[in-house]
Amino acid sequence: MNIISPVIEAHAFGPDDFVGGEAVLDFVNTVTGRDQTPRDWLDGYPRLLEWAGKSALLPAGVLRTLADMARSDPAAADDALQRAKQLREALFGTVTGMIRGKTPSDDVMILLTRGWHAGVAAHELRFGKHGVQRGLCTKAIDLDLIAHLIAFRFVDKLMSEPHERLRMCAGSNCAWLFLDRSKAGRRRWCDMAVCGNAAKSRRFQARLRKEKKTSTS
Ligand SMILES: [Zn+2]
Repeated sequence: MNIISPVIEAHAFGPDDFVGGEAVLDFVNTVTGRDQTPRDWLDGYPRLLEWAGKSALLPAGVLRTLADMARSDPAAADDALQRAKQLREALFGTVTGMIRGKTPSDDVMILLTRGWHAGVAAHELRFGKHGVQRGLCTKAIDLDLIAHLIAFRFVDKLMSEPHERLRMCAGSNCAWLFLDRSKAGRRRWCDMAVCGNAAKSRRFQARLRKEKKTSTS
């Protein structure tokens, strides 16, 4: 499997980092600039918890339990973070494979399958007021839970979305993935205010340069 080695960069996650339309894609987008200068924003297990909290992947109580577990065994937390990053790269390979019609390697599929199985095992069925409901199994709270839930969501949520609406941002030094939910299906940018405007300004500068050249020649 092709594991990239981006520069690790400290980054406080904000609303602009959750534009993928699905948590699985936002998780993949925690590496930014894959097309030019990749930077990995998960600089430690606490950052993974911060990301999971802001993406509303897990309730605050579960995140507090995971934070306690990570504090009492930082080495195990770091190992879990590395496994989460492996899964992230497997997801990037799979989603870009879906976009470009390219088959990912068997290793990628094996890793995703394992994560998905663990994600299913992290759930239990309960009978309540509204019939059978799916919930998180409290026994499943371990340091790998975030990665397992992401793999679970890939199958549960992302695979049920139309594949032809999966996109990679056309911006420079970005390569974020997103689901195009626009009516016309012509969304090109992760965020118009960031990559869209940067591209517009690059085109404008290029046109100015061209005009200047023509007028001086
Ligand atoms: Zn972008």
